[in-house]
Amino acid sequence: MTKITPEITQKQQEKSLENLVESGQLVDLFSRSISYLRVSVTDQCNLRCIYCTPREIGDKLPCSELLNYEELLRVIKLAVKLGIRKVRLTGGEPLVRKNIISFIRRLAAIDGLDDIRLTTNGVMLAKYAADLFDAGIRKLNISLDTMQRERFAKITGADRFEQVWQGINLAQSLGFSPVKLNMVALRGINDDELVDFARLSLTHALQVRFIEFMPIGDATIWGEERYISSEEIKERISVLGELVPVETARMDGPARIYRFRQAVEDRGSVGFISPISHKFCDQCNRLRLTSEGKLRSCLLSDKETDLKVILRTGGSDDDVKKALVQTILDKPKSHNLFEKEGFNCHGQMSRIGG
Ligand code: SAM
Repeated sequence: MTKITPEITQKQQEKSLENLVESGQLVDLFSRSISYLRVSVTDQCNLRCIYCTPREIGDKLPCSELLNYEELLRVIKLAVKLGIRKVRLTGGEPLVRKNIISFIRRLAAIDGLDDIRLTTNGVMLAKYAADLFDAGIRKLNISLDTMQRERFAKITGADRFEQVWQGINLAQSLGFSPVKLNMVALRGINDDELVDFARLSLTHALQVRFIEFMPIGDATIWGEERYISSEEIKERISVLGELVPVETARMDGPARIYRFRQAVEDRGSVGFISPISHKFCDQCNRLRLTSEGKLRSCLLSDKETDLKVILRTGGSDDDVKKALVQTILDKPKSHNLFEKEGFNCHGQMSRIGG
């Protein structure tokens, strides 16, 4: 067998870099096809969730540090030329960024970009839902960790549950589909609502997704005692009935989807996103752009490529493309969270975007 020397690896990388820039198909060194770009359009958020955002409001980035819309459009257009087909706008809270709707309209006009999605906390959804629909968004993820008003205020720092719920209902009546609810399960904080959330999939056409709590960021309430595995969640919600697996397309993400056997066909489903208990790195098709213009090939690795510097020092389109491709070539085989001291990744979730 040929011994893989560092020189060969470097040569292979250079060749892959050139091939990939030309080919219009992004495949990394582990044969994963990368077609999905998550873009955090701002680190600012109108909520301060205890498990996500540092409490100090003064910690936000100055506007000049965010990529402006022209820069974002340039990067996304180039990424699409390279083979990206799906973009998700995230944040912070994407709907707090000024003129977000006209930005989305411009995104929707990009040739080859078939799928633009949005992840929101729902606080401003009722206000923007019709405009979002009109601008071309059809698929929404809404983060909601409790259905109890007072608890919502405790978790998020804001008494906004009613607004979020109104936004969810409006989105459904306007025809967004799918509407996915993302619930981060936190032991001792909201785990007494697991069954209530699962029941929503029987009464509403919602995909209710349970996300395992991840140790990201330095200023959150992370602790192993707060973590609940998907297996435990599945077992706890199975009091409602038998869960039957549902086949999904790879583009639809890493969630393992089920339906309660008694669920009516047009109703909802439940999903499990298990980055801790069931690594899905071998199927990861994502690249992330943080709100400060850094490319990140793995949510749970702090290694980043500074795209903003390239953009703001006269970098050519080819330089930007090469940075995108190189980041993909550097994408780790899998996250190494468990090998890290302190079991944490230090990037701030509100800048990375989840
Ligand atoms: N503001 C938008 C929202 O609420 O969906 C987008 C940004 S938010 C950072 C994206 C997602 O990350 C949310 O669903 C949030 O619950 C999730 N999230 C944040 N911190 C997390 C953590 N430590 N573990 C698991 N999920 C987390």
